[in-house]
Amino acid sequence: MTTAPTQPSETRPAATDAQLLGWDPVFDELGFPQDPDNLYTQTVSTMLKSAEIINLRHRVKIILAQPKNEIMVHFPVKMDDGHHRLFKGYRVQHNNALGPYKGGLRFHSDVHLDDVKSLAFLMTMKCSLVRVPFGGGKGGIKVNPRELSPDELMRLSRRFTSAIAANIGPDYDIPAPDVGTNAQIMAWIADTYVNISASNRDVNPSAVVTGKPLEVGGSLGREKATGQGVVDVIKEMLPEIGIPIKGMRVSILGFGNVGSWAGKILQDLGARVIAVADHTGALRNDEGIDCHAMADYCARNGGLAGFEKSAETTATGGNASTGGTPISLDEFYETPVEVFIPAALEQMIKEREAAMINAKVIAEAANAPITPAGDRVLQQRGIEILPAILCNAGGVVVSYFEWVQNKSCVTWDVEQVDKELNRHMVMAARRTNLARQRYQCDLRTASYIAALEHIGKVYTVRGIFP
Ligand code: NAD
Repeated sequence: MTTAPTQPSETRPAATDAQLLGWDPVFDELGFPQDPDNLYTQTVSTMLKSAEIINLRHRVKIILAQPKNEIMVHFPVKMDDGHHRLFKGYRVQHNNALGPYKGGLRFHSDVHLDDVKSLAFLMTMKCSLVRVPFGGGKGGIKVNPRELSPDELMRLSRRFTSAIAANIGPDYDIPAPDVGTNAQIMAWIADTYVNISASNRDVNPSAVVTGKPLEVGGSLGREKATGQGVVDVIKEMLPEIGIPIKGMRVSILGFGNVGSWAGKILQDLGARVIAVADHTGALRNDEGIDCHAMADYCARNGGLAGFEKSAETTATGGNASTGGTPISLDEFYETPVEVFIPAALEQMIKEREAAMINAKVIAEAANAPITPAGDRVLQQRGIEILPAILCNAGGVVVSYFEWVQNKSCVTWDVEQVDKELNRHMVMAARRTNLARQRYQCDLRTASYIAALEHIGKVYTVRGIFP
């Protein structure tokens, strides 16, 4: 993936996040490097602040502050021209107190160990908040998948699977798609695992991954699940905030799996997606961009650049017109909307972007899209943030449904998947609202509290071995 040429530069002094972060004694006890810009330090800091409010036991805090296992592998892959290239891959298993490790695999040139640790940590929080019996994991390969041919991508996926095969499994650690990976890659991983694993006589070893194509045990509704979950949370929370969905103006940063599905579903509910940005550019259309046509266009062209007004017509009808007029990234952030949905990468909304955003609510579809400094600006400006561990949990919820179907050799229809997903998302949103009322805190803190209360109880009941 390339970076948007108009990406705004960092303007705040480095110390700002350090002051905001505070420095919990747990960081010194565990020997964390004093780097407040580090995503892992930031995510753990949010957890520690929430843990303090509910007096979470010190032993649970230190367990959660570090992952259980950090696996790093180097492996060679034969390229199409015959030469071999060495790749670096990661799998971080953060916590399995609630069940097997669970979390996506990211193929991206900017994959680093600390980012993978953060994402694994967030999975632990997310699974606990939505009450699915999984722990947190995450993995990835440092690679730009767009530079590889389909055959190279297949060999990369299979060779990585063989490198980590002893450390994953349907009852131990279950990867899924994330940025740069998709259902096809999950199919290659499942097939490789089935062929090389000692446990290939299990009922269904392809349950080792979720987000698979339907033909190899995928679930109906999984592809749209994260976007659907974002919309379920928006629908549950916005009446509280006093915003109707019909006619609501929306902007979306990142139009891949999550952003495009959130956009399509909101459009079908009568909202207007008036601005979209991705790594190739940004477009605006106040009548509403047709997200269905735009998703098709992006799939064919690798990005939204060129999807301009009247470039495509909608096959699905609906209330939207077609494409949009090109705008700069700054103009994209400044577009007035009711709801802004970041659905691209981590830490994209810093102080500068936060000052430009012209929205009443931010629904965090991406993981950790806002830095602590950005968070503070948004709070000062009174912009409500629906936190990522709540908003984007739909993917892991339907992954859990896929795993249940694989394990029990049944198939659910999409109505059942959607209904059960909605139930999990609504309950998680209510848990978060209750925690906010009880502790008079912001929604991000409340979502962590609701997650920590559950995992804290599990540690109390289980105890800590020996
Ligand atoms: P994706 O690869 O399908 O899409 C990523 C999008 O981000 C693309 O549209 C890309 O153009 C855009 N992007 C990348 N760099 C950008 C930049 N510099 N500026 C603007 N746009 C940029 O990924 P996805 O699966 O949709 O995941 C998006 C986010 O949602 C990630 O944070 C991911 O961890 C999170 N998430 C995904 C899932 C899932 O089920 N896929 C589940 C939970 C959370």
